[in-house]
This record gives sequence, structure tokens and C-alpha cells, in this order.
Amino acid sequence: MKINLIIVGFALLSCFSVSSDHSESDSVSKPDYALAIHGGAGVITRSNLSAAEEKNYRQTLDQALGIGEEILSEGGSALEAVTAICVFMEDSPLFNAGKGSVFTHEGTNEMDASIMDGRDLNAGAVGGIHLIKNPILAAKAVLEKSEHVMLTGKGAEDFAALHDIETVENEYFYTERRWQALQKLKSEGSQKVQLDHDDRKHGTVGAVALDRSGNLAAATSTGGMTNKRYNRLGDSPIIGAGTYADNSTCAVSSTGHGEYFIRLAIAHDISSQMEHGGKTLKEAGDHTIHQKLKKMGGTGGIISVDKEGNIHMPFNTEGMYRGIAIPGSRKVMIYKDE
Ligand code: ASP
Repeated sequence: MKINLIIVGFALLSCFSVSSDHSESDSVSKPDYALAIHGGAGVITRSNLSAAEEKNYRQTLDQALGIGEEILSEGGSALEAVTAICVFMEDSPLFNAGKGSVFTHEGTNEMDASIMDGRDLNAGAVGGIHLIKNPILAAKAVLEKSEHVMLTGKGAEDFAALHDIETVENEYFYTERRWQALQKLKSEGSQKVQLDHDDRKHGTVGAVALDRSGNLAAATSTGGMTNKRYNRLGDSPIIGAGTYADNSTCAVSSTGHGEYFIRLAIAHDISSQMEHGGKTLKEAGDHTIHQKLKKMGGTGGIISVDKEGNIHMPFNTEGMYRGIAIPGSRKVMIYKDE
């Protein structure tokens, strides 16, 4: 019985688009729920990831999918699932979010996060926060408990404190790998910011989900770019650029060079093409990433799920840490050819 389920699961998964190079066909039937996650895109190749690192990433991505599936399979909401996944990934030092956030030019950590509920287009975002352990929880508090959509800096932290969101000391965010990345960039005399300097692997995290009630949600969390200055904000806290969800179209979470994603309003652009241009999820995502973003010279990718449970994850980098799950099947991928 279990084996049959797995076979059916893989047959179903093969009906979904899983990378920029795979073509998407329509699902045979709408899955009970559908989930996609990312842990950032960038120059991620077999030659620059050791076997141990690769295993670690794959296991962690699989665990993140498991957390989301547990919620969705029990009838939990897409909003709950994407939140729990981001919390778990923020707690891992592997990704550029929460614990593993990159350093600013001044050697601090400034984190951004956003979340959106496709049911009512309610949204919450925080930008440039320093001391909140899980920025996605602060974004969710803004969504649920504030009349605003986006709060930044100390104000966002004061708001989070009012709602009992856990804070930590600065040292919590120290990781040797990110610190060395900053030192290297500074020693090169570079004034430039860099997307997760480690071989340009971006490490933002994100999740999109369709739940059993047909609701969509998306969430994204990041430490931004190494060596950033002047309170730079990227796309991740911007609704419509880094995150978007609308029950009538799709849910999207972005990762990549934020300045391009803001200018192209990437996440909303995909939803808009479906809404106004009648495009499928795959057509819309491919157009945005493989034509518009490419033409502008931007790098990165997105994960997306539509109201029918189709999943599409186009990216224009060497790799993207990612995973998908539908009932009975789960798959984790890193490289472009997977
Ligand atoms: N999009 C994020 C930013 O620009 C970085 C990333 O996704 O790696 O802040």
C-alpha cells in the first residue's frame, strides 16, 4: 500500500514543473495540498559544494518540507505552513536568514521578511531588523495585528516586542562563514554588496503553499546582501517583489539580486500575467524570469504554486536550493539539471 502511494506520488510529481528546464504539464488531478520551498539561488554547482555540504542541505530541505507537510496534511492553513517552514530555515545556519544572516558593511545583521495570505491579500513585512530571532514571526505579527503592511528598524522591533516575539543578543547571528565572507569582500576594497559572498550562493529562504481549503500563502526571509550599507532593503520585504499570494492566481516567493526583483515587481508580475493575460503559472514565471529578468541582467529565481496545485520554480542561476511536496511524495533539488 505504502509503495503504491509512493509510486502514485512520483507519478503526480512528474506532472509538475520542477526546474527551469523541465516542461510543465497540467496536473492529472488537483492535489490535496501542494508545497514548494527555496533556500536561495546562485552559483551552486557540484564542484563548489562538498558531498557533506550537499547532504546537509538536502537533509535540511527535506526536514523543512516535512514540517510543512505535517501542517498541510492535517488540514492546517497555507499561512501556518509557510510560517513554520521559514522559522525552521531561519534557525538553520545554512541559509542567509535568521541565524545564518550575512553581515552588513558595519558588521551587523539587518534582516528582512514578508508574508502574504492569498485569502484576503492581507500582508505583513519587516525590514532592517537586528534582534528578532525569527523575522518571519515579526512579519506575521504585522499581518495579523497591525493596521500597517510594512514596519522597519527599531519601530518594527518595538512592535514585535509588544507581541512577545522572541529577541536574541547580537552574537546569536554570528557565524564564522558569513563573517569571513564580509572580511574577504572588505579586504578586496570592494564597496560593492554581494549576494551571500560564498561563491555567490544566495541563501534567502521562502515557502509557498496551497492548503486543503484551497488557500494560497507565501513567505520570504533574508539577511540581504553581504557588505550592504545605508539601510539597504532588498526585494524580500517588499510585497509584490519578494512575496505575493492571491487565491485567484498563485503564490510566489523570490530569491536573487533584489534590486532587479524590485524594479520588475517580480512576484506580482507573475500573478498579473495570470490574471490579466490568461497565462499559466509556467508561462508567466518563465516569461518573468527567463525573459524580463534575463534581459535586465538580473540573477535569481522564484518558487510558485497556483490554485490548482501546479508548482513551477524557474531560475537563471547555476542552482537553487529547493523542494516540492504533494501528498505521497516529496522531492529536494539543488542543481539546474535536477
Ligand atoms: N533577494 C535578497 C536581497 O536582495 C537576496 C537573496 O535572495 O539572496 O536582499
